[in-house]
Amino acid sequence: MSKKFSVPRGTSDILPENSSQWQKIELKSREILKNYNYKEIRTPIFEETDLFARSMGQTSDVVQKQMLNLTSQRKDEEGNIQLSGLSLRPENTASVVRSYIQNSMDRKESLTKLFYFGPMFRGERPQKGRLRQFNQVGVEVIGPNSGSPYLDAEVISLSVEMLKSFGLDSFDLKINTLGSPEDKKAFSILLRNKLTAHLGNLCDDCKQRFERNVFRILDCKVKECRDIVKNIEIDHSYLSKESSEYYSKVKETLDLLGVKYEESLNLVRGLDYYTHIVFEISDPSLGSQDALGAGGRYNGLVKQLGGAEADAVGFALGIERIMLATKNVVADSSEQLSTYVIALDEGSLPSAFTAMSNIRNNGISSDMSFRVASMKSQMRAANKAGAQVVLIFGEDEVTNKTATIKDMRDGSQRSVKDSEVVQFLKEILKG
Ligand code: AMP
Repeated sequence: MSKKFSVPRGTSDILPENSSQWQKIELKSREILKNYNYKEIRTPIFEETDLFARSMGQTSDVVQKQMLNLTSQRKDEEGNIQLSGLSLRPENTASVVRSYIQNSMDRKESLTKLFYFGPMFRGERPQKGRLRQFNQVGVEVIGPNSGSPYLDAEVISLSVEMLKSFGLDSFDLKINTLGSPEDKKAFSILLRNKLTAHLGNLCDDCKQRFERNVFRILDCKVKECRDIVKNIEIDHSYLSKESSEYYSKVKETLDLLGVKYEESLNLVRGLDYYTHIVFEISDPSLGSQDALGAGGRYNGLVKQLGGAEADAVGFALGIERIMLATKNVVADSSEQLSTYVIALDEGSLPSAFTAMSNIRNNGISSDMSFRVASMKSQMRAANKAGAQVVLIFGEDEVTNKTATIKDMRDGSQRSVKDSEVVQFLKEILKG
């Protein structure tokens, strides 16, 4: 017997029965993003590995453990992995910033507001809600002097607005600030001071994180580490006056907009590029993989990747997680088929087929079974497709150049001349 293939572990098919929900998410997002004046960008799904290593940070978990590289990994003499090839993108911020710089977008407008949809790839251990290929919708706002707290508030409220438009309302928004790069340094010193006494009890990964990326310890899922983190007291003493005022302004603006949030001093996000505001949205109904989306400000990244000085803020929402959380949203009625065409014998197939083609060319959806079968089985197929109106072609109809039209909504039936079919359908489908 020949081998049956399955999707690679950690990936999934989006089947037709789920794609209407998928489209709804995309459609609603596009509507809202248009209202907020964001423009779409599409970048390649792979980039130089170095772009991700330099932006997300060599010590981030994503770069250390989850990169899916296209070229074989080479090691240098000391056994260090050389990240010199190409990798599937684990996220899209770095790619968008690369494109912003490469296409000199700063010369075209002072503030560039972009959004994207697309697949991301991470070599994670798959489980429910955690895939190796997953999709995100995200935004990036980039521009010189765009460090306005109103923009942070816009981006946060936009993510909330989008989630609400998908029918979600039981999610939690957490926010925090890391402050400026100098504040962030002070924060890492404060964290190391608090954690030094517990170093021996941290997991092996966190012992390494202590030196390389102490913020990641706050995200560790190991129970011992979580207990330690819970009991160290973190405050905002690392913030400068300006950073503190900036944070207050963002919160005030969110209050003005009526956006509900919770402050979380433990929220840091483990990527190097974040500064100032960071936020995360989670839905407790999703279990252990409960993050719907996350984002924050990354003011230094454009310069770090070779561009001119520019500030930036953005977020990404995970579409599969949203799909899981919106399981109960009913399919849109616009998915229904308007008409279904039935041929009762071979001689009627040409008339039925041309009628269907003519109906479609007039902007009305239509389908048929493409072969002769009993009236009963074709009516069943029409019902399954959700057809509102059925057109029946048999010997009489072909001879008289008519179609028998049955309105499935009220059961009424009448004979209509071929030349008047489209007009008749337009009228009855209007209501
Ligand atoms: P992150 O860049 O990790 O903050 O991801 C942003 C959002 O993408 C998360 O909040 C999730 O909704 C989604 N996401 C991230 N990683 C995965 C994954 N491995 N599988 C499915 N969704 C993911």
